[in-house]
Amino acid sequence: MALLGTAIEALGRTIFPPVCVACGRPPCEGGHLCCDCGAALDLLRAAPACPRCGSSSGPHISAEGLCGRCRASSFCFDGTARVAPYVDPMMQMLRRYKYRGSEYLDSCLADLMIRSLEQTMWHKDIEAVVPVPSHWMRRITEGFHPVMALATQIGRRLNVPCLSVMRRVRFERHQIGLSLSDRIRNVQGAFALRSGVCVQDACICVVDDVMTSGATLNEVAKVLKQAGARSVYNLVLARAGQEQATLGIA
Ligand SMILES: [Zn+2]
Ligand SMILES: [Zn+2]
Repeated sequence: MALLGTAIEALGRTIFPPVCVACGRPPCEGGHLCCDCGAALDLLRAAPACPRCGSSSGPHISAEGLCGRCRASSFCFDGTARVAPYVDPMMQMLRRYKYRGSEYLDSCLADLMIRSLEQTMWHKDIEAVVPVPSHWMRRITEGFHPVMALATQIGRRLNVPCLSVMRRVRFERHQIGLSLSDRIRNVQGAFALRSGVCVQDACICVVDDVMTSGATLNEVAKVLKQAGARSVYNLVLARAGQEQATLGIA
C-alpha cells in the first residue's frame, strides 16, 4: 500500500507539478516557496517588530521597543508575535491559502507561526489557544475557516487545548475601507464568551490570520480579560501597516 501511495503521489506531481505558493514558479526542493520567495520571506521575518502590537518598528522606538502608538495608547492584549509584515510574498501566500482552497498549507503556515512564537518571552506561559471566530453566516458562505485550521495546528504543536470559546454575537460590517476609529466602533460588543466557559487566571494565545488596525484582537482581548484571563497574547501570520488599514487593503 505504501508503494502504491508513493506511485500515486509521483503521478500527481507529474500531472500537477508543484509551484511556489507565492509566485507560481517551481519551488525549492521539498518546499512550498521558490528560492527567491523563501529568501524574501526570511528577510521579512527577521525585520524588527513592536512586541506589543507587532507593527514594524522604525528607528524611533522606546527603550522597551514599543512603537509610537503603543507608547501613546494601550491595547488590552499584552503582546503580539507575527510571522511577517503583510507584503509579498506573505500577502500572496495568504491569499492562496484563504481564497484558493489550499488547506494543505495549514501545516507550513503553522510551522512559521510557531517559529515566530518561540522568539517571544511569553511562549512558554501559554495555557490555551483561542481562534478569532468567524460569524456562522460567513462560515457557511465561505466554507473553509482558515483561522480555526491554523489554531488547531498550533494547539497541537504546543500541546495545549485549542478552545473555541469566543463567539460573534453580531454580524458586523467588514473592516475593509473603515478608518481606525470606525473599526474600533464596528467591533465593539461583537464578541462574547460561550456560556459556561472559565478562563479565570489563564494565559491565552489568540490566533488570527491578518492583524490590521488591531481593533478586532483588542476587542477579543478585552472580553477575555473581563472574564478574568491573566494575560492575552496574539499570534498572527501577517501584520498590515496603518497605511494599508487606511487604504482598505486588509
Ligand atoms: Zn516564488
Ligand atoms: Zn506597537
